[in-house]
Amino acid sequence: MNLSGILNEEENLIRGTLESYCQREVTPNIEKWILKKQFPGKIMKDLSEFLLPATIAHEGFKQPISEVSQGLLSETMGKYEFPVPAFLTMHFSKLFPFINDVETRNNYIGRYVKGNMVICGAFTEPGHGSDAASISTRLDQNDETLILTGEKAFLSSPSIADVCIASVRSGEPAGNRKSKGISLLAVDMDADGLEAYETENMASMYRGDFGGIRFDEVRVPKENLVGSLNTGFEILMKVLGIQRVHVALYSIGLAESCLQEALEYSKNRVAFGSPISKFQAVSFRLAEDWTKLEAAKLLAYKALAMKDMGLDSSSESSGVKWFGCEAAFDAASHALQTMGATGYVKSSPLERKFRSSRGFLIGDGTPDIQKLIIARNLLGKEYSP
Ligand SMILES: Cc1cc2nc3c(=O)[nH]c(=O)nc-3n(C[C@H](O)[C@H](O)[C@H](O)COP(=O)(O)OP(=O)(O)OC[C@H]3O[C@@H](n4cnc5c(N)ncnc54)[C@H](O)[C@@H]3O)c2cc1C
Repeated sequence: MNLSGILNEEENLIRGTLESYCQREVTPNIEKWILKKQFPGKIMKDLSEFLLPATIAHEGFKQPISEVSQGLLSETMGKYEFPVPAFLTMHFSKLFPFINDVETRNNYIGRYVKGNMVICGAFTEPGHGSDAASISTRLDQNDETLILTGEKAFLSSPSIADVCIASVRSGEPAGNRKSKGISLLAVDMDADGLEAYETENMASMYRGDFGGIRFDEVRVPKENLVGSLNTGFEILMKVLGIQRVHVALYSIGLAESCLQEALEYSKNRVAFGSPISKFQAVSFRLAEDWTKLEAAKLLAYKALAMKDMGLDSSSESSGVKWFGCEAAFDAASHALQTMGATGYVKSSPLERKFRSSRGFLIGDGTPDIQKLIIARNLLGKEYSP
């Protein structure tokens, strides 16, 4: 599928520049970065030269490039294992335009477009993940200051981030509607009382790329509210809803590179006197994965095109998050299987991509939660789980 024909000249240029950047800067260096476990901060500066300013609406900047175009960037990033903290920063930045205070909004967006920032989205807590409205991180008010107390866990990039956007309980739920009374806040990571910590995970690549944040009476100016007080949950769902499509496309891109590797390997590996690609069990498995990834991409780009048209795409977005990430994980796993023991060794990029693709089935919402959203859209709340 080649969508580049529907992009305008600027969008095509950005996509092409990203692809050459990945070939020139990411592919030759990825092993070194991972060996050192060091997030290459320079990457944000590099992105600021051709990509970041085009992704966000801001006074003085023109309209951001289309969601479809940004989807192609996400897929390309996945294909080249682009550092995830940078990829996620692009998407968490979409919360900044909701900051009401003009000076604060311009300050955060300005730092982002100049490549001076890694952003961490801080929504999950040790006790609540899928049930994102049950958070207990608390917001108290004192004149012009907001005071945060609580803990966030299992986050991407907390120890390497410059800013986090945190969800907090700021008011009472309305009856049994727990999503009411939640606010979002942009918090600088060097604030007094804030402590970021690291948690090693299955696919950790860079030191500090996964972990949590403790807030011990952290004081934040009221101007840092993202949206108005107590309206954070709706904003979060809106932004995360479309971010899910990009996460799925990143995972699909990653899986496409695994599939490509498996196809090449299967033509060259000889068993029982013939290339293994000649065995139907091997080639059909790869053909099935190709089909599922293509189907997932159709749904992903449909969701993004609907978003560009101002239509509600929540079912399509949730659909591709579960179906696309599952197809991607299966494709990565099958690619590894095709390569036998060669794929299983730690130095193989396939083994790394396989572990990464597993995480995308959990982060940004599990398949169960996506199916819940779709069922509610199809059946209405009264008749769905
Ligand atoms: C790689 C990775 C990156 C992440 N990055 C971030 C980040 O940047 N920021 C952030 O805030 N969080 C992040 N997370 C956390 C992630 O959002 C949560 O792990 C996820 O939402 C699931 O929450 P949980 O782990 O608490 O599982 P739980 O919510 O406890 O769920 C456990 C199991 O129960 C199922 N389940 C729960 N409720 C229901 C239901 N109503 N119906 C059916 N099944 C249900 C789930 O599907 C799951 O299988 C990340 C996680 C991973 C793995």
